[in-house]
Amino acid sequence: MSALAVTDLSFRYGRKEALKRVSFRVEPGEFCALLGPNGAGKSTLFALLTRLFVARQGRIAVMGQDLQAHPRAALAQMGVVFQQMTLDLDLSVARNLAYFGALQGLSPREARARADEVLDRLDMAERAGEKARALNGGHRRRLEIARALMHRPRLLLLDEPTVGLDARSRAAITAHVHGLAREEGIAVLWATHLVDEVGASDTALILHRGEILQRGQAGQIAPGGGLAQHFLTLTEDLAA
Ligand code: ADP
Repeated sequence: MSALAVTDLSFRYGRKEALKRVSFRVEPGEFCALLGPNGAGKSTLFALLTRLFVARQGRIAVMGQDLQAHPRAALAQMGVVFQQMTLDLDLSVARNLAYFGALQGLSPREARARADEVLDRLDMAERAGEKARALNGGHRRRLEIARALMHRPRLLLLDEPTVGLDARSRAAITAHVHGLAREEGIAVLWATHLVDEVGASDTALILHRGEILQRGQAGQIAPGGGLAQHFLTLTEDLAA
């Protein structure tokens, strides 16, 4: 069963078509980079996947659960890291996780145990007692990823999670999320316009003007690490 199955998904803002019959799947353990220049439709797709918008055309299923028909069951399998930071900076790292755990229906004891696990997974165990405000940008992002894992989702969505971070923090976050896919079988959909975040064995899903131009293993689409040039050529030719 696919972790995420999107079928014939279309969306318009008034007369503006933002997504045009988009179909793709993400399998358990797959790291899928959703690449697209500004205006490609990445945010619209995320809004539909997280149910901020409701799709009138097409179908979205998470671990076989239809998002429209069974939103609770589908969302329970999904962890989300939005582009805008949504931590409570006045709370400790552990408290941020505990509150989210409670929202997800975990008992306080379960939430504490799970918080320890996810912090450990993100190499942040020693930061549990600190206020979120004391963390740098990279660690705040890692805390948001830890929080998104609290309810053990099988699909993790991240919308441009490294925007504004320095090179070292970006590398650490990309490595952690690749590890979650590889070692825990979590399916990852990672929206970005930064091609250097995509590894050769990742899936690249190239979105442009609301349409999927290409889907395949990054190393095969553009052998020899030439994904950046390939991406530019593909999206520029169409822009011309
Ligand atoms: P991306 O996240 O890849 O930059 P978006 O999903 O934000 O792309 O935008 C896709 C297209 O939809 C763009 O052409 C954008 O101008 C248009 N768009 C986005 N939001 C709105 C809106 N609220 N009203 C009208 N058009 C919009």
